[in-house]
Amino acid sequence: MPKHTYTLTRENVSLKPYNGYRVEATAKLFAPIHSGSDIMTILQSRTIRDMPKLVLGQGFNTLPIGNIDRLVMLNKIKGVAMVDETDDYVILKVGTGEDWINLVRYTVKRGWGGMENMTMIYGTVGSSVAQNIAAYGQQTSDLVVDVEAVELSTGKLHKFTADQCGYEYRESFFKNKWFGKYFLTYVTLKLTKKPKVDLTYWSYKHGAVSTEIKKMAREPFTVADIERTLRIMRLNKFGDALKGSYGMCGSHFKNPNITKEKYLEIRAEMPALQYYPVEGMKYPPNDIDALPDGAMVRVSLAHIFDEVFKFRNYWEGHVGVSENQALNIYTDGEASGQEVLDFTDMMVRKMKERFDVDIEREVKVIKD
Ligand SMILES: Cc1cc2nc3c(=O)[nH]c(=O)nc-3n(C[C@H](O)[C@H](O)[C@H](O)COP(=O)(O)OP(=O)(O)OC[C@H]3O[C@@H](n4cnc5c(N)ncnc54)[C@H](O)[C@@H]3O)c2cc1C
Repeated sequence: MPKHTYTLTRENVSLKPYNGYRVEATAKLFAPIHSGSDIMTILQSRTIRDMPKLVLGQGFNTLPIGNIDRLVMLNKIKGVAMVDETDDYVILKVGTGEDWINLVRYTVKRGWGGMENMTMIYGTVGSSVAQNIAAYGQQTSDLVVDVEAVELSTGKLHKFTADQCGYEYRESFFKNKWFGKYFLTYVTLKLTKKPKVDLTYWSYKHGAVSTEIKKMAREPFTVADIERTLRIMRLNKFGDALKGSYGMCGSHFKNPNITKEKYLEIRAEMPALQYYPVEGMKYPPNDIDALPDGAMVRVSLAHIFDEVFKFRNYWEGHVGVSENQALNIYTDGEASGQEVLDFTDMMVRKMKERFDVDIEREVKVIKD
């Protein structure tokens, strides 16, 4: 191992401060990464080049379990620069270690649109781009122009256009078939200078954005108004966890896609169940009869967990469910990663037994 890599890497480092669930886990090797050249320096070591690796942002979508037999690379690459501007749009080049929420606030302050609905999503810009985070009708992939990345087994530099990233709803190649292959270093994002605010979101529990915004702003609404409204709605939704009382990673599971017939079966038990189109991010009127037989729809798993299974505020030992939102799994800071896995496996099993529906995790489980 070249001598200088020792200044970047440390052995047997606790990952407890670096994951949202605050579970104890240990990285065999750990390195904070402040630049592309830090990556290159580390990769000079043949041993490290051949080791499996895990890139971490702020750990709000990662559940590490036990001893992680990898090099964990903590992303600290910073910087925001405007690389182009017209009357209609701006293009920003952003270091992937930047904080996502700070970037949202930076853009709405300047009146630029595209990110305002995705406020209060904890984590780094790199994770947002790798995972195509989405909220309230907006998704990151709609902003991405291109992504710069270092291939971790070779040190080779790549630039991918958005079309090459395999983006789908909350998915990308970086999250699935390329997982662990690249370290995303910089991303260019395109934001509009002529935003149209989207107020169509509503939820059975947290109300309509169009109603909430009128409590704090007057028309014509700006992107800053919508960001503020959603920030407050989300603080109400996640309040206890965000005050630091619990460890959590947002929604542990994805909302499932099911057939129209399965939707009707579940709706027989809970008539208020909403559905959404699978391919889009829009919220249609509840007119299920207009869909053809066998059509797929997406449903709110939180609503099902809440009404059918009464999971809200249900705890087993150090792991439980938020009393505000049944997809949010909490820990009291003393849980092991395995306990979180066992608890959430129980939820998967119950959903399968009751409705014969397979549910998928949103959170990435890392277990070696
Ligand atoms: C209160 C709360 C609310 C949330 N709400 C939402 C929401 O509305 N919508 C939503 O989509 N998510 C939501 N989340 C989940 C979470 O905030 C996002 O998944 C976020 O992007 C996680 O960022 P992170 O840096 O903490 O991720 P990490 O857990 O550090 O990383 C996530 C994944 O991305 C990979 N990765 C990270 N950086 C890089 C990089 N530079 N190169 C390659 N791979 C990389 C990691 O390997 C890992 O697999 C919420 C979480 C919380 C706590």
